[in-house]
Amino acid sequence: MATLFLKERVLERIKMNTWLDISPNSDFSIHNLPYGVFSTPSQRPRVGVAIGDQIIDLAAVAMRGYFQNLSIEPEVLEQPSLNAFIRLGKPTWQAVRKRLTDWLTQSDSPLQHLRNECLIAQSEAKMHLPLEIGDYTDFYASEAHATNVGTMFRGKENALMPNWKHMPIAYHGRASSIVVSGTDIHRPKGQFMPKGADQPVFSATQALDFELEMAAVIGKDTKLGTSLRPEEAKDYILGFVLFNDWSARDIQRWEYVPLGPFLGKNFASSMSPWVVPLEALEPFRVDGPEQQPEPLPYLQTSERRNFDINLEVAIQPEGGSEAIVSQTNFNNMYWSVGQMLAHHTVNGCNMRVGDLLASGTISGNEPNSYGSLLELSWNDERPVEINSNQTRTYLEDGDTVTLRGHAQRDGIRVGFGEVRTKILPSL
Ligand code: CA
Repeated sequence: MATLFLKERVLERIKMNTWLDISPNSDFSIHNLPYGVFSTPSQRPRVGVAIGDQIIDLAAVAMRGYFQNLSIEPEVLEQPSLNAFIRLGKPTWQAVRKRLTDWLTQSDSPLQHLRNECLIAQSEAKMHLPLEIGDYTDFYASEAHATNVGTMFRGKENALMPNWKHMPIAYHGRASSIVVSGTDIHRPKGQFMPKGADQPVFSATQALDFELEMAAVIGKDTKLGTSLRPEEAKDYILGFVLFNDWSARDIQRWEYVPLGPFLGKNFASSMSPWVVPLEALEPFRVDGPEQQPEPLPYLQTSERRNFDINLEVAIQPEGGSEAIVSQTNFNNMYWSVGQMLAHHTVNGCNMRVGDLLASGTISGNEPNSYGSLLELSWNDERPVEINSNQTRTYLEDGDTVTLRGHAQRDGIRVGFGEVRTKILPSL
């Protein structure tokens, strides 16, 4: 009883109200305040913060002198990427977040007076890729996903490689082809070995797949030669986005030995436009699965290392209605983002502002919680029903794939919006 009372009092303190009208189902509650880059027909790309169905134009706020005592020049916010703002450092992000929270919760605040000049309807804005991404690394940190793929590619006995439970496995991805939600992609071409054939063919992929992932945005450079502890991640990560790491399974399968993924992966990856701050996700930390065998000391952490974030994937065929094909949770990850960062830097490899660390496909243990069509259709064996008269083993031209994610607890919702992409025919 006493615990319950205490919990309610804590929540009372956490829960905040704003003068702005925000739907209780909005991903962009006052507890979120994610960063993005937007433009309007009359304004060049600039930094904004989402709130409800609006965007706070941070550049417009700064131009009116309201960030002067935070030492933020308006030019830093009139940029086509968040990088310059991120470089101001965590104390500045925290100060901006605090100021916006104060303004949104206090009536008669400067923002309330400036609402006509500084609040833009999201429906009138175009969202841009919010980062200049120098490097992108893709991990492979979901045990269910690694087990599923390993079982299909190598058999049940060899599903997890001997190294898998000792380190977060990853490869270096391609940053140049990362696009923002709303950017259509063309079906890629490449060479692959058709089933039963003895010579490879060159063709548009016959096995185009999505991968449901989350990606962390690096918020602080590390020095070449230095390493981070898992607990230090909170000072080096700005926040998270949804990430769809497109895959051409036939190209991937033919090329991946011995050096790993290449053209089957690097034709495109899609990300959501709003970077949800790590601070907004702190109330949703959970323990994560037990790690057995115990990892080496540099990967050990006693913190609650995972996040409880509901995730889903929808497919909408051309002219048809949308079907949810997967529902899972980010709390399924075996390796945490802190462990990924510790592993990535343990040899002295440096991180730079704007780099992305993607989680790898996020799959749960149930067949309807798998994060790719490869797994959902179990390598073509079980076509996925997407409505009464259509099934998919892989994606078809005209399909629109949408990833969504949100954390929710005790009436507080922090969401990621979506990453939506349409598949166009091969060029
Ligand atoms: Ca991936």
